[in-house]
Amino acid sequence: MNDKKDIGKCPHCGQEMLKWQPPVEAGWGTHPHQVCFNDDCPYYIKGWEWMENEFQQKVSYRHRYDPETGETGPIPVWSPTALRDRIVD
Ligand SMILES: [Zn+2]
Repeated sequence: MNDKKDIGKCPHCGQEMLKWQPPVEAGWGTHPHQVCFNDDCPYYIKGWEWMENEFQQKVSYRHRYDPETGETGPIPVWSPTALRDRIVD
């Protein structure tokens, strides 16, 4: 129950983000980050359109928050299920 407290909400859709373990190669450390996995998130939905229009690519990105550094940024996804295997509880 207590660790629910440090789960932030996505600034784009207001949904609770999920703890997500980045791959070591990403260079984001070994602690879990928080990622918005809401498929209705406007940030994620606009990402598909924008990448298609600008780069003709079928990719989008989700909102990511690093609780250790306080840094936020996009994380690229290539399908709605991409990266979900790294969600931790
Ligand atoms: Zn969101």
